[in-house]
Amino acid sequence: MRYRILLPLAILAAIGLVLVLKGSEIAARSYMNEAEAQAGTTLRLAVSALDGHLKRYEALPALIADQNNIEALIFDPKNEGLRARTNAYLKEINALLTSSDIYVMTLDGETIAASNYDSPVSFVGENFIYRPYFQDAVGGRQSRFYALGTTSLKRGYYFGSPIEIDGVIRGVIVFKVDIDSIEASWGGGDDRIFVSDPEGIIFMTGSPEWLYASILPLTPDRIARTEASRRYADAKLRELPVKRGSFAGRDVMMIADGRAEKEYLVVSQLMPEAGWTVNVLMDTGSVRVQAQTVTVAAFLTLCLAGLALAIIVQRRARLNERMQLQAEARNELERRVAERTADLARVNSRIEEEIAERRLTEQRLRQTQADLIQAGKLAGLGQMSAALSHELNQPLAAAKTYTETTGVLIDLGRIEEARDNVSRISALIDRMASISKHLRNFARKPNEKLGAVTLDEAMRDTLEIVAARLKAADATLEIKIDPALPAVKAGAVRLQQVLVNIITNAADAVEGLDDRRITVSAGRDGDKVTISVRDRGPGVAAAIRERIFDPFFTTKGVGKGLGLGLSISYNIVKDFGGSLSVADHPEGGAVFLIELQVADGNFLEAAE
Ligand code: ADP
Repeated sequence: MRYRILLPLAILAAIGLVLVLKGSEIAARSYMNEAEAQAGTTLRLAVSALDGHLKRYEALPALIADQNNIEALIFDPKNEGLRARTNAYLKEINALLTSSDIYVMTLDGETIAASNYDSPVSFVGENFIYRPYFQDAVGGRQSRFYALGTTSLKRGYYFGSPIEIDGVIRGVIVFKVDIDSIEASWGGGDDRIFVSDPEGIIFMTGSPEWLYASILPLTPDRIARTEASRRYADAKLRELPVKRGSFAGRDVMMIADGRAEKEYLVVSQLMPEAGWTVNVLMDTGSVRVQAQTVTVAAFLTLCLAGLALAIIVQRRARLNERMQLQAEARNELERRVAERTADLARVNSRIEEEIAERRLTEQRLRQTQADLIQAGKLAGLGQMSAALSHELNQPLAAAKTYTETTGVLIDLGRIEEARDNVSRISALIDRMASISKHLRNFARKPNEKLGAVTLDEAMRDTLEIVAARLKAADATLEIKIDPALPAVKAGAVRLQQVLVNIITNAADAVEGLDDRRITVSAGRDGDKVTISVRDRGPGVAAAIRERIFDPFFTTKGVGKGLGLGLSISYNIVKDFGGSLSVADHPEGGAVFLIELQVADGNFLEAAE
């Protein structure tokens, strides 16, 4: 990833760098062109100024050579009067033409008249035979030469002309023109203008320190040629410390100037008529600075572009990264959701399985319950059959014995005893009838309707029935019932039967004991009224507490209890919508609690 970004960036940077370098070169070339054009203009101006200056004097020597007095002097050089006149004439003309000097020479090179005849550096009497301009003029040509004056030690441009009289060259007239005024205009500024001779020696320059210095190596040949014409008189020649090079496709010159070295673009123009070359040196410093500025600017622009590109690339990379992260997060979320959904589905199916299992279990439970009930019923039936056969067999056996005995007694005529036996048989049949009656009650639903029964009423009837039994047991019955208690939902006869059963049991329990009190009390708790029957007997042992409500469960001796009383009572109270339970009193004795619903008043007492 990193490599994929870095490689194109590096390639772009390299391309950018090459473009910058190329661009800077192009810029440098363009600035150089500008500089060259500027230098060319300067050069053209300098050349035309020089040309114009020289042209003014070009035709004058030939013109003046024809003057009569000059010709006369040539013929008679020793004539002092003629000399004086000619000198005055030349001086006048010289002043008029603003030339430097005008002088006349004979063919042997001696100066016979000069405009500066009266100055300390008079040319009169001087011989300039060695000057090329003299030799050219003697040869019949209009000559030109520039040199440092050997007498005046002043630079000048010389125009020489032969003095021809009647077709014969008799002498030479020379105009020396001052060049200082032109040169003076070249000083200052960055550009340097100079005029060099064919040997490369600087003859005119705006920089005086360069005067007579050579821009070409001073070879012996060059020195010899220069000395032959004595162009620079006794001036000391030297080489300018020049190095050549190139910049922006142009040849340049490096010239040491003091300690610093400056680089110049050189434009030159040869002036064939004048015999010299005009040079303009343009300092390339500003061009270099401009080119460098452009390079730096381009480089900075490149850097900025690179930076911008890098930022864009980085932003995109970050955006991509963020989008990737988001996509990952989304995927993760979706994965989790899918996982959770799968979990939920698993849990659901497990719950469904569990529900199905529970249903099955419930079904099995119901089945088991039904089976148990069936089994319980059968067990009860078995128990009951056993008890019944036991309870009925005894009186039946006794009745059989009595019957047989009665027959014998009648045969023997013992009627009284037989009668006695018959009444015993009758009593036994009564007992069996009573069992049968109980069983009938137990088995079938009574046709008594439920209604509101007041406790007073129930107790009153009960007392009548149990009075004899209480008396026999010598027990006392305490009744603590608030008459304000509401009526309860019950059947009057059956409630009385329940109370009789429980009180009779209590009387059985306390019989023969010291404390033979039986207490019947009642209280209300919400929509329930609880009747409690407490005795001070032995209580009900925990081991048999659950079983005393079972049919035929009794601890009483044979013939005494049927074990049906509590069982029947339990079912009756249940029919009333109440409950029957037993507990031990903390102070001893058993407490039977009959919990009944308060009658809602809609019931009317119904007779059995
Ligand atoms: P039965 O009186 O014919 O034995 P019940 O069903 O009335 O039959 O009573 C079952 C048994 O409950 C009694 O044999 C006796 O053991 C026990 N029981 C009943 N009431 C009392 C009581 N008040 N105190 C102690 N035991 C009692």
